[in-house]
Amino acid sequence: MTLDTPFTGYSDPALHAEGLYIGGEWLPGGGIPVIDPSTGRTLAEVPDAGEAEAMRAVDAAEAAAAGWRATSPRQRSEILRRWFTLMTEHAEELALLISLENGKALADARGEVAYAAEFFRWYAEEATRIPGEFRHTPSGLHNILVDHEPIGIAVLITPWNFPAAMATRKIGPALAAGCTVILKPASETPLTAYAMARLGEEAGVPPGVVNVLTTTSPGPVTNAMLADGRVRKLSFTGSTGVGRILLAEAAKSVVSCSMELGGNAPFVVFDDADLSAALDGAMVAKMRNGGEACTAANRLLVQSGIHDAFVEGLTERMKALKMGRGYDAGTQIGPMITTKAVDKIDRLVAEAVSRGARVHTGGKVADDSGYYYPPTVLDNVPPEAALAHEEIFGPVAAVYRFDTEEEAIALANDTEYGLAAYVYSQDIMRAMRVGRGIETGMVGINRGLMSDPAAPFGGAKQSGLGREGGVTGILEFMEPKYFAVEF
Ligand code: NAP
Repeated sequence: MTLDTPFTGYSDPALHAEGLYIGGEWLPGGGIPVIDPSTGRTLAEVPDAGEAEAMRAVDAAEAAAAGWRATSPRQRSEILRRWFTLMTEHAEELALLISLENGKALADARGEVAYAAEFFRWYAEEATRIPGEFRHTPSGLHNILVDHEPIGIAVLITPWNFPAAMATRKIGPALAAGCTVILKPASETPLTAYAMARLGEEAGVPPGVVNVLTTTSPGPVTNAMLADGRVRKLSFTGSTGVGRILLAEAAKSVVSCSMELGGNAPFVVFDDADLSAALDGAMVAKMRNGGEACTAANRLLVQSGIHDAFVEGLTERMKALKMGRGYDAGTQIGPMITTKAVDKIDRLVAEAVSRGARVHTGGKVADDSGYYYPPTVLDNVPPEAALAHEEIFGPVAAVYRFDTEEEAIALANDTEYGLAAYVYSQDIMRAMRVGRGIETGMVGINRGLMSDPAAPFGGAKQSGLGREGGVTGILEFMEPKYFAVEF
């Protein structure tokens, strides 16, 4: 596209800047500029909610709760299924909107829309399969019946890196379970969230079941909602730092929490790996979304025998990537989300280089590079470098050398995070053994991409609590109720 191309349908930023979405109404306002990181221009301005609007959203969610809870699983399923169909029909417009406000390449944005829509299809199916349980007591004298009820009003907080998928991964199971929700998207990418709300309206989601608010005061606004006794669930995706703050806040009202937090994924390549498959996998695990993914390979741990060939192959592939405006044809890597993100990447790379890391490609930003950071490959990175411990969240592949399996596991586990890991080896017994030894919630074995709505996504250690997706994801929004039954 050119910057003058007229927007069509749902891709139009102005359409999604009409107001907060509360109780099925659009409440106009402004105050939060939405920036196109590809150019730095302002796309639109969305409203800035305060505590009063947050309480209004809780009132709306409360007013809709009994009616939504009383719908049949089949009715909820069909609404979610329609929402999936509408997302699919408008996929191209949504992908452009995501690329506009997030900067990711259109190919990544299209992938996100497909992935995001699948959560609605998956939970349309799961809505009709909510499990219960029946057992006899060990004495044989009594009966145990376990039902699952909707947990209540849920506050959903999402990050900017997957503005559609992180929302549907929460809205899908919450609605399937019978909960009403208040979604607070990231300030950088609110347009996609409002677009989703519009599609939800079209799909038949009743007023108040899904509410969306944007704010520049996420702390006070969230705290006010958590302190209100009617909110029973907080589902958060974002950084571990903010997750810790929210857990402490939720503790005050003992609100149930699901936390999808930061990562520091090791990508382990053994000498016996298929080199070309490992390189393909590394490119996906590292470069999906320009490296701005919680599952991004943050540390490439490569065994000595294959190390040099791997670095050479990776450097070739990274050099060949076309960087440009996210929505331009042929772009493979767009800008980072903010100039602050570029500064952070620059600092981490400079620090690693000062400690002896070698630059094979990239590694430097020009003074006028703005939101862009070039694809970079480093090797000889010492394990004490800051980028071995912090999320890089950018297109920097940092390669570390190891010799033994034990060393690889120890290096992989040398982090407070435990979200994702990848292991490449043609010896499946070894790959599984190493996968079991790594302390993460998810392991890709000879695969560089693990996200799937049908699988339980989530982390161990300080990467989170609970799981999204899969057959258990819906239970995060349900309260088990035990009936001691005599009959
Ligand atoms: P972030 O700074 O933690 O923000 C995430 C969300 O929390 C945003 O909506 C933000 O609002 C809001 N927020 C910030 N401070 C808050 C507070 N005190 N109370 C309530 N809400 C608050 O994270 P991010 O930079 O957007 O996203 C990147 C992080 O998300 C990375 O660490 C990444 O690994 C993680 N992530 C994890 C997963 C996973 O599934 N585990 C998936 C994707 C991303 P504002 O935008 O208004 O600040």
